[in-house]
Parts: sequence; structure tokens; C-alpha cells
Amino acid sequence: MIKVLILTEVDLPSDFPKWVEHYLEGMVNVQVRKTDFEGLKSQFRDARRGQVRADELLDYLEPRVGDYEDFDRIVLIMDDDGYVRGLNFVFGVTKIEGNLVLIFTKRLLGPQDIYYQRILKEVLHELGHTFGLEHCSDPRCVMYFSNTVEDTDNKGPAFCQRCSEKLSRRLRLGKIMHQKFSQA
Ligand SMILES: [Zn+2]
Ligand SMILES: [Zn+2]
Repeated sequence: MIKVLILTEVDLPSDFPKWVEHYLEGMVNVQVRKTDFEGLKSQFRDARRGQVRADELLDYLEPRVGDYEDFDRIVLIMDDDGYVRGLNFVFGVTKIEGNLVLIFTKRLLGPQDIYYQRILKEVLHELGHTFGLEHCSDPRCVMYFSNTVEDTDNKGPAFCQRCSEKLSRRLRLGKIMHQKFSQA
């Protein structure tokens, strides 16, 4: 089983791990732990913009979480606003094939159930990237790039057929790799 750890500043519904596991085809195990990132964020906050420099934080953390406990992917959910060079803001950042995801929830705020759906979609989107998926041209697919929160609302949490097939192949491979490395 591919192991995903979500460290979150935001209280999530108790079913949240099950939702993520469901859309990742039951091939991941998700654990959630509540935490806060105040110290970390303060080191990467742009004082003028009041936002977290997401790309720099990702570059800083990625080599440091490589073998955090036994998890294959780490997701940090920050109750904050982030940006990367060249963009006004980001909902989330990661790298293709990366092991770390950062999610920023400040611009996802809304009625509680919608808020949780938005966070779910962003988590699935970024995890999709870590499993090798790129952006999808289907606006209903979770891998569609969200320019606005309306884009996020318009897409489902599900992967389209094409993305889903690619994801399945990658998750099966990831499972084999995980077992191999765990035994080594
Ligand atoms: Zn993306
Ligand atoms: Zn797609």
C-alpha cells in the first residue's frame, strides 16, 4: 500500500482520508494529523505580500521529508495564502513525481461542505502530479488546471478516463516499488 500522510492546520471531516483513498482507487492509505506550521511559514513569508513563498518552501522541505517515517507522500495543508514567482497565488504546489505537496486554503474558503470539497480536489490534483499526471484539458477532470476557485468548483474530484488509466498504472507500479524498498 502506498502511504500518504496529511499534516493539516485545518480541521478536516473524519471521512476525509476515506475520500482521498476512494479517488486514488483504494491503492493508498491516508493518515491525517493536526498540526500548525507557524514557525515554518514565518521563515518563508513575504512581508510585503503577506503570502508564503510556496516554491521556496517546497524546495526547502522536499529533501528533508524524503524518508519521513515510512510515508511515500507528505501533504501539508496550510491555513494560509501562498504564491510562486510569476503567479499572484497558488492553491497548491508540488513537482511531477515529487513526494511533497503544499496546499493553501485561504482562497478555498466557503460554506463548510464546499470548502472541504475544494480542499479534497486540490489534494487529489497535487497528488496526481506526484504520480506523474500532468494537466488535463477536460474541465470536469480533477487534473484540469484551476485558475480560479470557480474552476475548482466546476471540476469533480474524480479523474477522467484517460487520467484514471494512467494513474492506475502508476499506482500499481508505486505499490510494487514500495514493497521492494520496504523489504530492502
Ligand atoms: Zn496542477
Ligand atoms: Zn483528465
